Amino acid sequence: MKAQLLEAVGQPLRLVELERPEPGPGQVRIRVGACGVCRTDLHVFDGEVEGNLAAPRQPLVLGHQTVGRVDARGEGVALSVGQRVGVPWLGGSCGACSYCGQQRENLCDAPRFTGYHLDGGFAEYAVADADYCFAVEGEVSDAEAAPLLCAGLIGYRSLRMAGPGRRLGLYGFGASAHIVAQLALHEGRDVMAFTRPGDEEGQAFAREIGASWAGGSDEAPPRALDAAIVFAAVGSLVPAALRATAKGGVVVCAGIHMSDIPSFPYADLWGERVIRSVANLTRQDGREFFALAPRVGLRCSVETFPLESANEALAALRAGRVQGAAVLVPG
Ligand SMILES: [Zn+2]
Ligand SMILES: [Zn+2]
Repeated sequence: MKAQLLEAVGQPLRLVELERPEPGPGQVRIRVGACGVCRTDLHVFDGEVEGNLAAPRQPLVLGHQTVGRVDARGEGVALSVGQRVGVPWLGGSCGACSYCGQQRENLCDAPRFTGYHLDGGFAEYAVADADYCFAVEGEVSDAEAAPLLCAGLIGYRSLRMAGPGRRLGLYGFGASAHIVAQLALHEGRDVMAFTRPGDEEGQAFAREIGASWAGGSDEAPPRALDAAIVFAAVGSLVPAALRATAKGGVVVCAGIHMSDIPSFPYADLWGERVIRSVANLTRQDGREFFALAPRVGLRCSVETFPLESANEALAALRAGRVQGAAVLVPG
């Protein structure tokens, strides 16, 4: 099978021919229909997540937003051959640590992440633990479903962590924010979008999705925010979001990596404002989110690239040239 291999940090991915992987007990093999390209893939590519996680597998197949059909099964798997499934970032958890024991497997002490500790979906086939896959139903194409596996799912968890506040600010209007905006609008919230200063296309895109206001991240919103979610990996946005937030407000950092957060006056945090991060996902998040997605009528805006063009897709994401989500599609 064809796969895009990360052999060393910072080196371009290399298209190689690999043996088709065989599923072990409890695993399925998936014929990949599409795999989303996440900001985290870019951070792994750049070697930026090792402060948060143990070192990745090497060489490694990136990609933790895989959608495809089960093509082979190991022993003890309930999923059927031909069934469409999605493989998220959480590829396994230990089941024994205190976090796993408290329904907080997203914080597991010995997690296995897809496209990091386990080979992911930048390939024609991928193997995954069946217990961590989600059924992907409905008419939506594989490419349009793929971004739901992380951009959607982590976005969903971030929105829950942001609390029920009505006025929601989204910093960085990419794959995740354009999905979260739809969830928030469905709940009757007022969505305000912040993009890179001067990114008029991005701001127009946010207004098209339904944001009541869109501007540069250096601008103050027209109304104080009850909550903000920071998707961009830019630490200086945290104090900016805090300043835009009303008393009691919450600032959620949704990414796995961020540049350093500059110091700021305590007065900006005063008033019971909260800053928190969101890490990974639980399978319960996935079950809730995949039940909710069709009810909301979520629509992902995607730009597809052939599997062969994985490096171009990463470069486009890095440059902020992707409107919505980048998705790789095997030929
Ligand atoms: Zn991701
Ligand atoms: Zn655990």
